[in-house]
Amino acid sequence: MEVTTTSWPALPALPDPATTPVVVGGLAAELAYALDGPFHFLLPDAFTANLAAMREVLTVAGVDGFIYYAKKANKAAVFVERAATGGAGIDVASTAELREALGHGVRGEHLMVTGPAKNPDLLRLAVTHGATIAVDALDELDRVISLALTGRVRPARVLLRVLPGAQPHSRFGMSESELATALERCLQARDAIRMEGFSFHLSGYALQPRADLAARLADQCLKARVMGLEAGRISIGGGLPISYTDADSWHTFLETQHPAHFHARKTFQPRDFYPYHSPVAGPEALAALLATCPEGSEAALAEVIRDAGIQLLLEPGRALLDQAGATVFRIQGVKDRDGYQILTVDGTSLSLSEQWFHSEYLPDPQLIPVDQDAATGVFPASVGAATCLESDMLTWRKIAFPHPPRVGDLLLYPNTAGYQMDSNESPFHDLPLPPKVVIDRIDQVRPRWRLDRHFT
Ligand SMILES: *Cc1c(COP(=O)(O)O)cnc(C)c1O
Repeated sequence: MEVTTTSWPALPALPDPATTPVVVGGLAAELAYALDGPFHFLLPDAFTANLAAMREVLTVAGVDGFIYYAKKANKAAVFVERAATGGAGIDVASTAELREALGHGVRGEHLMVTGPAKNPDLLRLAVTHGATIAVDALDELDRVISLALTGRVRPARVLLRVLPGAQPHSRFGMSESELATALERCLQARDAIRMEGFSFHLSGYALQPRADLAARLADQCLKARVMGLEAGRISIGGGLPISYTDADSWHTFLETQHPAHFHARKTFQPRDFYPYHSPVAGPEALAALLATCPEGSEAALAEVIRDAGIQLLLEPGRALLDQAGATVFRIQGVKDRDGYQILTVDGTSLSLSEQWFHSEYLPDPQLIPVDQDAATGVFPASVGAATCLESDMLTWRKIAFPHPPRVGDLLLYPNTAGYQMDSNESPFHDLPLPPKVVIDRIDQVRPRWRLDRHFT
């Protein structure tokens, strides 16, 4: 098939009023000059707004809930600070994350410690600080019990992580029979530990399996209470989807994508793409989840949770970071290929982690030309990194840029705060890690900036 220039599918990022002044007001160009390399900028007001919107959903649904921000989604300190001031907790999975959370003002009781077979220091700190531990296995439960017995500080607070029936090959969580044993051990060690309930984290973004499992665990809590355990909380993990682009663009892309649209005719499995548009996203997805009737129930999940007297715990990562940051590179080379160009930017795809999961970060990067009067038209180009790896591409897809890309122009990857910007970063080739610039909207006239306070 002859692919004409009119057929490039576009995936424009959803409009973001907070990003526009950074680009249009010239701050992005100023920062690129000052920092002399790629950088991330963070928009913490978006985090605070997402947190408030999720809380509002819980209030409206009449559900007693508590939100833990899943810290692994971004290393920046500013989001931890915003969680602390916003009354949210933090979901951590390493001693360094726990230290960061405490150091930036989160109370120990507001920490949730997740992850498989946790490091002994992490467990000890968790018990010392009164954090909730999502216990992943029986041997881990035994370690927590003996820590609590020998530490004699305070009882350890635990949730039992469940191996989801819908995802039987998950390496996380305990099977039904292991859970039965765990409950017995919790009962025996009643003075040393508080069994506060159950937890799960499902991969994928479907709501029904989450509602089904949450309702089943509400029932398990009632049974555990009959045994004499506390069992008053359920953590449903993360996985609230967000939308990066509009429905039309997303569906058109899925229907029309073709190897000719990608550099080197690269192909991807459509199932490996993140769902860049969801009919309900973020806080609305939470509302939809609470309104979902679990299998075999006439009542919505919100009612099931309320009737069982359960506190619902959430561990969103990506959904709290929606529109909370972007990444800016500078173009340092432009090469012609047959019918398109290859741009080389001054950073690597390690700062755009989706590229490392057999997938592609699909929201269109935005070209910020140095020349205000740049010509307009359709200028397709793919984007490569400043490294010696053939596969180090930030965008395999040929993006139909509206101006001819030039050396010195900036390229902004939108909405990268959730997982994209730093989960895979390393100083490959001794390139410095892109700094994180926090845009505080202190005065309304112009955005103010500072560097993030992450301890390294
Ligand atoms: C990664 C993770 C989360 C966060 O998931 P999101 O999809 O970012 O919301 C929450 N809980 C656990 C246990 C996780 O591993």
